[in-house]
Amino acid sequence: MAKNTVQFQQGFSLQEFISQYGSEGQCHQALFQWRWPDGFKCPKCGHVRYCSLKSRKLLQCNRRRSQISVTAGTIFDSTKLPLTTWFLAIYLVTQSKVSVSALSMKRTLGVSYNTALLMKHKIQQVIKERDDSKPIASYIIQLDGAYWGGKKRDGRRGRGTTGKLPFVAAVSTDDQGHPIEMRFSQVRAFSKDAIIEWATQHLCIGDEVVSDGLNCFNGLDEAGFDHRVIITGGGPESVKMAEFKWVNTIIGNVKRSLHGTFHAISKKHFSRYLAGFCYRFNRRFDLRQLLPRFSFVDLRTPPIPQRILKVAELCG
Ligand SMILES: [Zn+2]
Repeated sequence: MAKNTVQFQQGFSLQEFISQYGSEGQCHQALFQWRWPDGFKCPKCGHVRYCSLKSRKLLQCNRRRSQISVTAGTIFDSTKLPLTTWFLAIYLVTQSKVSVSALSMKRTLGVSYNTALLMKHKIQQVIKERDDSKPIASYIIQLDGAYWGGKKRDGRRGRGTTGKLPFVAAVSTDDQGHPIEMRFSQVRAFSKDAIIEWATQHLCIGDEVVSDGLNCFNGLDEAGFDHRVIITGGGPESVKMAEFKWVNTIIGNVKRSLHGTFHAISKKHFSRYLAGFCYRFNRRFDLRQLLPRFSFVDLRTPPIPQRILKVAELCG
């Protein structure tokens, strides 16, 4: 059988990672290049000449002597940790096929558990903001709703569950039916309003969207999407239907991975865990570019307020 070219692509080995980003100088140089790919430009006056203040890791603009840090405005800003630790954390979060736990990061990075947790959530927040900023690419979108955690009164898991975390699962496919991108997002509830709000942010008008007959998905027609309903009738056979093959497969993978990695997931941070899966899946075609791409985005993402990342509320 032919090998799957995505699964068997050449990855970005830890050895290569260390040879490229193993020292503070290399990380600093990489950030500089990602921040100013066309050469330094002072953010205050636009001047292009500068000198490096080696002792304080700052750049000084030659015109007005403004001092600029390469990490200003990024998740590395005002960090006491070495850049090498941050880079390794990003490597761990973006390269692993499944989500990496904060406990495992703590051990690998040699930092405290709370530090590992905070780093992980900051990295995942960058990922989430990146993916939320543009609609999913598509030919046909397979859409479904699912819950994380919880059981029905009769002990079964499923969409009728109360009090748990509802999420919309969308997988776009190409004209051959192969999956292109996934977009899984936590929603308030499976209500028409929540679906319209989600679809307006994540889909493009003109996309063909296929869903089952759940009432809230009628919101897609109201919002002007090309919406096709397929009545599945529920039950184990319905999850095998070609129209929902990929969305069901990936929901299954995500849930299995969450069960295997985490003991408990805080409601407040569930959406970032989902974003982590989407990020890795959507960039699976090019593992080698994950780290530079992540950092390119991070350098353009505003700092994340500590209040949304209170360590005491996190669990990992
Ligand atoms: Zn300047």
